[in-house]
Amino acid sequence: SREESVNGSVVKIVMLGQAGCGKTSIVMRYIEDTFTPNTCTTIGAAFFLKTALINNKPINIRLWDTSGQERFQSLIPLYYRYAAAALLVFDPSDTLSLSKLKYWQNELENNCEQLPLIVIVANKIDLDFSIEQKSILLKVQNYAKQSQIPFFQTSAKTGESIQNLFRSVLEKVVEEQ
Ligand code: GDP
Ligand code: MG
Repeated sequence: SREESVNGSVVKIVMLGQAGCGKTSIVMRYIEDTFTPNTCTTIGAAFFLKTALINNKPINIRLWDTSGQERFQSLIPLYYRYAAAALLVFDPSDTLSLSKLKYWQNELENNCEQLPLIVIVANKIDLDFSIEQKSILLKVQNYAKQSQIPFFQTSAKTGESIQNLFRSVLEKVVEEQ
């Protein structure tokens, strides 16, 4: 259950989203404060540990970075099961990435006994978006607002809002314990 996932100050977080939207880059920026322009495609899933201080209490984060490749998708329920939070990442410059947002939200709603905290992350905001891409971003932002889904705009490249994203998510999860 969600309680179990935060029991003993352990918080499981899963990264979901279309391949190429920047999930691995967000994780690397958060864990190591680095950015590599040419990341390797994640095979299956990768697991990271990090301890963060929230309200002066250590929280052990178990961060699962999944792969967007179809042939690994059947494994993904293992990674979002019992997650306290799911970060749905998308890249406003990739339309495929947008359609995957709804897909993952439905997937979580249909398969989780206890819904994790769902957060939408618009990544790559360092890019010069076209008018069309900006309108997609705005549409998603409005959707998140209407649905009361926390929404963040990040750049794994510059580091913008990455720390803020994880801190906010952890604070919310710990609050609901
Ligand atoms: P994943 O498949 O979702 O894990 O995506 P990756 O983290 O592997 O990133 C895919 C590509 O997008 C890589 O070339 C990254 O360097 C690039 N990328 C990731 N995040 C950003 C970002 O915030 N800004 C820019 N400009 N590129 C990014
Ligand atoms: Mg990856």
